[in-house]
Amino acid sequence: MTRPAIEQQSIGLYVHIPFCETKCPYCDFNTYSGIERLIPVYVDALCEELRRWAELFPSHASRTVFLGGGTPSYLPPGDLKRVMSALTGGFPLVADAEVTLEANPGDVTQERASGWLDAGFNRVSMGVQSFDDELLTLLGRRHTAAQAIDAFEVLRRAGFTNRSLDLIFGLPQQTLQQWIDSLERTLELSPNHVSLYGLQIETGTPLEAFVRSGKVPQPDDDLAADMYLAAREKLAEAGYRHYEISNWALPGMESQHNLIYWRNEPYLGVGPGAHSSMLKHRFANMKSPRWYVRSLGFEVPADGILSLAGSQPRRPDLPKSTPGQIRAMVAGGPVNFVEQTTPSLELAETMMMGMRLDTGVREADFRARFGKSLRDVFSREIDQMLAAGLIEEDADGIRLSFDGKLLGNEVFGVFVAAAESMLLAE
Ligand code: SF4
Repeated sequence: MTRPAIEQQSIGLYVHIPFCETKCPYCDFNTYSGIERLIPVYVDALCEELRRWAELFPSHASRTVFLGGGTPSYLPPGDLKRVMSALTGGFPLVADAEVTLEANPGDVTQERASGWLDAGFNRVSMGVQSFDDELLTLLGRRHTAAQAIDAFEVLRRAGFTNRSLDLIFGLPQQTLQQWIDSLERTLELSPNHVSLYGLQIETGTPLEAFVRSGKVPQPDDDLAADMYLAAREKLAEAGYRHYEISNWALPGMESQHNLIYWRNEPYLGVGPGAHSSMLKHRFANMKSPRWYVRSLGFEVPADGILSLAGSQPRRPDLPKSTPGQIRAMVAGGPVNFVEQTTPSLELAETMMMGMRLDTGVREADFRARFGKSLRDVFSREIDQMLAAGLIEEDADGIRLSFDGKLLGNEVFGVFVAAAESMLLAE
């Protein structure tokens, strides 16, 4: 079902699927293995959450949809179809909406891929991570390099013309040559879009414990930087535009959903732990899948998932400004975090996210949003970053320089600190 959308009312929709067949040792996402019994009632709850939001936002449409997780491809195709019809029933897709499913290579079959197309997906983002079987074992992945290659081909044959692929670099024991081999195999598959993430050793993960105990060596940061530079070179030669710090795309194939985040535009997240930005507020759902399901009025099977329960999430203190729609989903739904987006917070986020893009923060957009020029607000910081060679400036705006892309966090930190000091002064 499609309907023409009024620009201000078209949003990005994120749907969180918190199930994985196995939990990778480096992962700290809100996702779980061994709770498959929860899937049917979870899908009921998700559809109910979508229905309630649609009632609260009756004139909104979906510009993009992204099913992430977790492993959305692990859900039976019938369940995915159910989620998609609840979603499009409440938030009709605008013409040319991008509808993405995250997939694990181990889940891709011809039959499933056809089912995904039938459910309305027109883009698949596949988490390959490496084309080296030893490194895949180290990462605890449940697929081999050969399976990933087959899976990508199956998607093409099924009719997916928009396919993205993720890799991770800077792994313990990974050599530069192994990384270059993975990049070359990626290019042989001709994805439209490539995401490359540097490994982060997240606190509390099994991988962190392995590194701390010496069982796995600490990754080498300098080598990781060389890998990033090698990727930039190879992907540029192959015609990919480096449009965001970690993302490359063939012309016109940028991730429309992620651009909504980077441009600090409105989006709604559904499912446990999902974040939203609407009506000048940030809000988020409770993280526990079990409490999430209960918050929407469903009972959960008692066995096998109680260990996830924790204590009942507390009701948050709401800013006075909280709009009625969000209040309703706190009182009788899964929302348990709400924050007002003050002008300074909006400023900090616009800079932090916008500077990730190759187009940077554009003067015209900034002025339209804040009624001031970039120089009116950040003159000192711009001069400081220009002197350090980390940004470039012209009449269109400011953006990271070639070197700045390697030190992005440092640049974001400077602008965010400046915006936060304005927050204190508000
Ligand atoms: S498949 Fe993805 S979401 Fe699931 S545990 Fe592994 S890295 Fe995390």
